Amino acid sequence: MSNETLQAVRGMNDILPDEAGLWLWFEEVVRDWLDSYGYRNIRMPLVEPTSLFKRAIGEVTDIVEKEMYSFEDSLNGDQLTLRPEGTASCVRAVLQHNLLYNAPQRLYYTGQMFRHERPQKGRYRQFHQVGVEALGFAGPDIDAEQILMCARLWKKLGLRDVTLQLNTLGDPAARLRHRAKLIAYFEQHVSLMDDDAKRRLNTNPLRILDSKNPAMQALIADAPKLLDELESEALEHFAAVQATLTAHGVGFEINPRLVRGLDYYNRTVFEWVTTRLGAQGTICAGGRYDGLVEQIGGKPAPAMGFAMGVERLLALLQDDGMALPKPAVEVYVVHQGALASRMASRVAEQMRDADLRVVMHCGGGSFKSQMKKADASGARVAVVIGDDEAQAGQVSVKPMQGGEQIRVSVEQLNATIQQFIKQE
Ligand code: ATP
Ligand code: MG
Repeated sequence: MSNETLQAVRGMNDILPDEAGLWLWFEEVVRDWLDSYGYRNIRMPLVEPTSLFKRAIGEVTDIVEKEMYSFEDSLNGDQLTLRPEGTASCVRAVLQHNLLYNAPQRLYYTGQMFRHERPQKGRYRQFHQVGVEALGFAGPDIDAEQILMCARLWKKLGLRDVTLQLNTLGDPAARLRHRAKLIAYFEQHVSLMDDDAKRRLNTNPLRILDSKNPAMQALIADAPKLLDELESEALEHFAAVQATLTAHGVGFEINPRLVRGLDYYNRTVFEWVTTRLGAQGTICAGGRYDGLVEQIGGKPAPAMGFAMGVERLLALLQDDGMALPKPAVEVYVVHQGALASRMASRVAEQMRDADLRVVMHCGGGSFKSQMKKADASGARVAVVIGDDEAQAGQVSVKPMQGGEQIRVSVEQLNATIQQFIKQE
């Protein structure tokens, strides 16, 4: 057996305790924010049948063609995939449990997603999303609500420099007309196209517009625009979304080349982008997907959703110099001697009864070395117990920021600590 240190899978990160504080804080802010719009939590498995993603996301997309972690269950031969995104699973769960039977649904989920991409800053093979889906709503009001929600979250988080890009993908008929024009256009320029684009020319030409290859950008910029094909209903829907955003003072830029990397979108699509994260500048993206519920086997139902990339958002906050939340320990219990040790654990439990956050020193050592640990723990108060204190049913309380050490009875301890903590 090799005794080389084992490493995590490339592109899959550990989030260490120092950083996890920021994650926990973020998750709390996000939960409050979602509550305030009436979105309810749903939790789906990390693994789904491969066919779900093929059907939902589209066979000719980056995700399905080259980014999915798919495998065969060696015990029963099932074809399975680690979820690359949450919308397909969410819709599957909603249909399986008949949640759309008599009420539209506002739902959200958070957690890991998996895509086999080239790892780089802001692009990982395991990453986290907060996903938000509204199912059963047809009107532009929900599109606007979701975009306004995002704007509110950025404000709550104190995020700067994110801008909104907006587009509409229209309805299927307009997309068909656009597709024909795209094929005709790209067929005239095959010599300028990369292999991906050539392969997609006749299967999914809209995807060519989603290419990240810099050499393709000039060609893409001149391609026929979907906006020119749209019908009045889709245009009115889009205008209503824009009007609400404007009324709320949310600025946006119309980007006709915003097509999104997944096939299921129609009408409104949007991305929140920043220029501060290099090439991985999209922190949040989504849109309407009115066809997906039916595509996954349900009765047709309109829907709109978005997902944000948590790693990118937190990177942006850190770039802003966002300070990590303070360590949570309030009290560190230092003790020496057999009698004192027994009392220490009793006293620690007693303080936890009063909801104090308490670390009891374990592993012995001199008072001095224990006090060093107390200091490093970030605790605001040390409770010091020697055998003489223990014998008298008392403990010493020492504020870590300096100040008088005082001796109190065990009965007075909780109140004394609370006073110390309040004072600071
Ligand atoms: P990109 O164009 O950057 O590949 P995408 O269009 O594939 O993004 P979506 O499927 O819309 O991304 O996912 C929503 C959000 O999740 C993205 O805007 C991004 O913030 C985040 N995200 C997507 N892929 C990754 C990844 N591999 N690593 C980290 N975050 C990601
Ligand atoms: Mg991608």
